[in-house]
Amino acid sequence: MTGTGDSDGYTGPASLRLGDASFDVAADLRGRFEPIDGRYHWYGRLARHDDLTAALPRGRGTGVLTTPEGAAPCELSDPDPWHRYRVTGVARPPFPAGGPVAPDVRPGPAEGGAALRARAPVTVGGDDLPGHVTVAVVGAGFGGIGVGVALRQAGLTDFVIMERAGAVGGTWRDNTYPGCACDVPSHVYSYSFALNPGWSHSFSRQHEIWRYLEDVTDRYQVRGHVRFGAEVTGARWDEAAARWRLSTSRGPLTAGIMVVATGPLSEPSVPDIPGLDSFPGQVIHSARWKHGPSLAGQRVAVVGTGASAVQIVPEIQPQVNNLTLFQRTPAWVLPRRDRPISPARQRLYARVPPAQKLVRFGLYLSREATVGAFVRRPSLLRAAQRIALAHMSRSVTDPELRTKLTPHYVMGCKRILLSDDFYPALARPNVRVVASGLAKVDGPVLTAQDGTACEADAIIFATGFRVTDMPMARRILGAGGVSLADTWSEDMAALRGTVVSGFPNMCLVIGPNTGLGHNSMIHIIESQARYIRDYVQTVISMAGAAALDARPGAQQRWNADVRRRMARSVWLTGGCTSWYLSAPGRNPTIWPGSTLAFRRATRRLDPAEYEVRHAGART
Ligand SMILES: Cc1cc2nc3c(=O)[nH]c(=O)nc-3n(C[C@H](O)[C@H](O)[C@H](O)COP(=O)(O)OP(=O)(O)OC[C@H]3O[C@@H](n4cnc5c(N)ncnc54)[C@H](O)[C@@H]3O)c2cc1C
Repeated sequence: MTGTGDSDGYTGPASLRLGDASFDVAADLRGRFEPIDGRYHWYGRLARHDDLTAALPRGRGTGVLTTPEGAAPCELSDPDPWHRYRVTGVARPPFPAGGPVAPDVRPGPAEGGAALRARAPVTVGGDDLPGHVTVAVVGAGFGGIGVGVALRQAGLTDFVIMERAGAVGGTWRDNTYPGCACDVPSHVYSYSFALNPGWSHSFSRQHEIWRYLEDVTDRYQVRGHVRFGAEVTGARWDEAAARWRLSTSRGPLTAGIMVVATGPLSEPSVPDIPGLDSFPGQVIHSARWKHGPSLAGQRVAVVGTGASAVQIVPEIQPQVNNLTLFQRTPAWVLPRRDRPISPARQRLYARVPPAQKLVRFGLYLSREATVGAFVRRPSLLRAAQRIALAHMSRSVTDPELRTKLTPHYVMGCKRILLSDDFYPALARPNVRVVASGLAKVDGPVLTAQDGTACEADAIIFATGFRVTDMPMARRILGAGGVSLADTWSEDMAALRGTVVSGFPNMCLVIGPNTGLGHNSMIHIIESQARYIRDYVQTVISMAGAAALDARPGAQQRWNADVRRRMARSVWLTGGCTSWYLSAPGRNPTIWPGSTLAFRRATRRLDPAEYEVRHAGART
């Protein structure tokens, strides 16, 4: 695809995921760039596939099409008389596409701040890496795209979003394991400015959420700012020039301000299990699912009982020969009560948007109402524990299995899980729960800490992410050349979860103490995106000045307050260890308050909390 109206495409085998089913299909695809709406439009036909026809009784569906050259969300419709489905997408196609991506990016307003004013406003378009930008955002998940929309809404267009992968989506692009879905209702797991009347379920599946984010990227004209395949491998604050010097896999660039939106759950964590190298079968992490060889008929070990494991186990249990679940700590599991959203209701939301806003507001408030129990009165969560125990009892009749699955910590201390089919799956005869962590691997033999052994053909690690030691922190060098990782060696800390003293002109999305146990992260992301927009505008408006750096005192006061609020919380008093904690008694990940309190705290940048650094100043 080399230009407007040109076409290119792909013909060959592809894999189509529809909900949780996967089909090997033959695809014939074409695409073109459409200058009118600034988006790629691609289309084609899938060869007849009887299972696919059976899976689409209404003749329509949405899914993800993966070719050897890429993956993209798609829609299926209009089967012809030979049952060949039409496939379409309005986003980067699953084959190489090199044409223009957003022709409508306007030049930004006049810039301020010494570093920023050193050059004329530019238009960031095309696919090249600019030499310098006002703002470089790292990561194109909900965080990076949300910041992009906020900047554009303020008329700021001199920015790029550096994304190491070939598509936007972050979490929802990378986690393609069977059953992957959000665990807060879809109506609240979406941006407030871009409600989606078309959610198919109350808890949407991964491919739908990914498609939603692709669509927002296009609708809000952020795509032209994204540079794909651009991994930021280092970032150094240049005191003399008052700008960030970034090295990336596509070359260097400088930026007046850097926004790090690399996500707290983007680097898979695989435990260092002795002997793992000797395992002859497939080893899969939930966030890097391999869609190749089927697990059907295999002996499968699943390690972990967190949010991903409860979604994976019920999906694969019916296909596998046997499944062994290595469980270090049981989870509290509440009913999810997922329901399809009927086409009539979707039409209502599309025609009467206030109806959807009302539903969203109700869902938001019902979640927000629970925060006091998490933060101040964990004993209130015992009522919900009784619901969870009754939920388990309905499916698990074996007393020994119930004992294994009953947690001994207060609900909420670890993430509360939602599932209707996890317990029924565990009660099936081909499933064994080992109430102990995986200790070692010797060829095909897996041995737990308590000595229980089993043989497996595949191991699935549902072991989460590197949250408190995120690799990106080692790549960022602030004032004086000190790395963010070293600055955080005691503990991660920031001012208002967004800026770190000693790292001028740098903002974080989902920084320390911004995670939630009770509501949607999108609310936090939007609060931060507004604060970051205010930060960028403040820097731009500074006459002759160069950079903003958080005052150490302001940061200390903020964190002392966070620690004070955290002291009685379930995360510290609930009697568990979890990925929220960096050490006993320290929780640098969760926001100990309501999302409204966080929004109030980030409504506006308070200049008193910052010192202004001038270009060339020494630390
Ligand atoms: C399976 C799963 C389910 C979840 N469900 C929910 C839910 O129901 N509700 C909820 O509120 N939250 C949920 N979350 C949390 C979720 O991560 C956040 O809601 C949100 O998607 C985070 O967005 P982000 O943009 O900050 O990070 P991400 O989505 O992780 O995006 C970060 C992006 O940065 C890119 N990147 C990383 N490093 C670099 C680099 N060096 N250079 C360039 N690019 C880089 C990555 O490729 C990625 O695209 C879930 C997380 C997971 C893993």
